[in-house]
Parts: sequence; C-alpha cells; structure tokens
Amino acid sequence: MNIDDMVMCGGCHRLVLNTTKINGMTFCQRCITQLKFNRWKKFIFSSVDELKMMRDDVEKVSQELRFPKQVTMNLVRLFDDYIDLGFIQSVYGVSQQMFIYKDHFEIKTDDFFRKTLMDTVSGMLQKDLKVDGFNSNTLSKMIPQGTIRYEYKDYESVKLSTGRNRPLDCIVVFKNKNDPYSLDNVYFFFAHYALPEVKERINNAAKAIQEHIQMSNKA
Ligand SMILES: [Zn+2]
Repeated sequence: MNIDDMVMCGGCHRLVLNTTKINGMTFCQRCITQLKFNRWKKFIFSSVDELKMMRDDVEKVSQELRFPKQVTMNLVRLFDDYIDLGFIQSVYGVSQQMFIYKDHFEIKTDDFFRKTLMDTVSGMLQKDLKVDGFNSNTLSKMIPQGTIRYEYKDYESVKLSTGRNRPLDCIVVFKNKNDPYSLDNVYFFFAHYALPEVKERINNAAKAIQEHIQMSNKA
C-alpha cells in the first residue's frame, strides 16, 4: 500500500484508498455506507416527502459523524435543488430515468444502453408493430440522448402500453402537439413492468404527467 495513493475523506478526514465522489466531494466507503448513498444516488423517489425524509436522514448522519459544516450543507443542497425545481417524483426505466417536476419533466438515458434500445425498438417497430415511415432520425428523437427536458404545454397526452417484446414490457408514449412526423412522439421504455412496485410507480408517474399536461393546456 502506497501512502501516495491515499486520499483524505471529506467527511471523516481519514486517509483511505477507495473513495466515492458525491458532487465533487470525496468520501471513504465507510462514510458512503453510513450516508446510505446507494439508496439515493439516482434520486429515484416516489414523492417529494420521500426525498425530504432521505435529505433529513443524510443531514442527521453527517452531523452525527461530525462532517465539516460545509460538507453537510452541500449534501443537503443536492436534495434541495430538486425541491427548488418543483420535484414531484422520479422513476426508473431500462437504463433510463424520468424526473417529474411541477412545470416540466425530464428523461435521462444512459448512453451505454441507448444503442441496444434503438436496435430493439427498430426491430420491434418493423416486425411486431408493423409501423412504416420511421427512420433513424425519428427513432433518434424517440429515444432521447442524455438528459432532455420536456415542457408539459408541448404535449397532448401520455399513455402506457404494454410491449409484446421482452425486455420492453412497458412503453410510455408522449403525444407531441406539433410534431411534423407521424411517429414523432417520444417513446419511453420500461422493463420489469411485471414487478408490482415498478408498475405502480410508472402508473403514478404517467398519471402525474397527464394531470400536468391537462393543467398546462387549460392555462
Ligand atoms: Zn469517511
């Protein structure tokens, strides 16, 4: 073990070899475990109350572990940033995440998985669904790259449909108001729809989006 390879944990200030970064801050594995980082690192929360509970828990733990005040504040800030944006809830997809806020929603797609997803969708549309008129351009729009922000006012509706091809159990379709392409809806794919808790979360998410689309269309 080389002392030069060791890094100081920003929380407990021990010198350690293995660290994990949270928003630029370095923590040792012991602190990471105490902070229950695995439970919140993707910010998947079914409600803002659940997010607030986790935030308070993280704050309490970092105070108990006597982290520097600034570190505790920065950790709390991570949660508060979501609240400030009007966070409602978030869900997991197949290497995708959806974040629902009061005035918009976001879909984040892991680049690594996107290619596989595009291949699967392409085959599915051609063979199973027999959909004509789509090309790589439309497909590219249907499966967002990186993190994309969507405004409720640009959409007419959202619906869930069950895919016939595994692993794509569930597809969420957002109907865009001004789309020049017939297929220029945004499709959002979920796996493991068979799991009751996933199904419930996705149903709730779709319901929340539908409500906000309706509200923004009335305004
Ligand atoms: Zn530590």
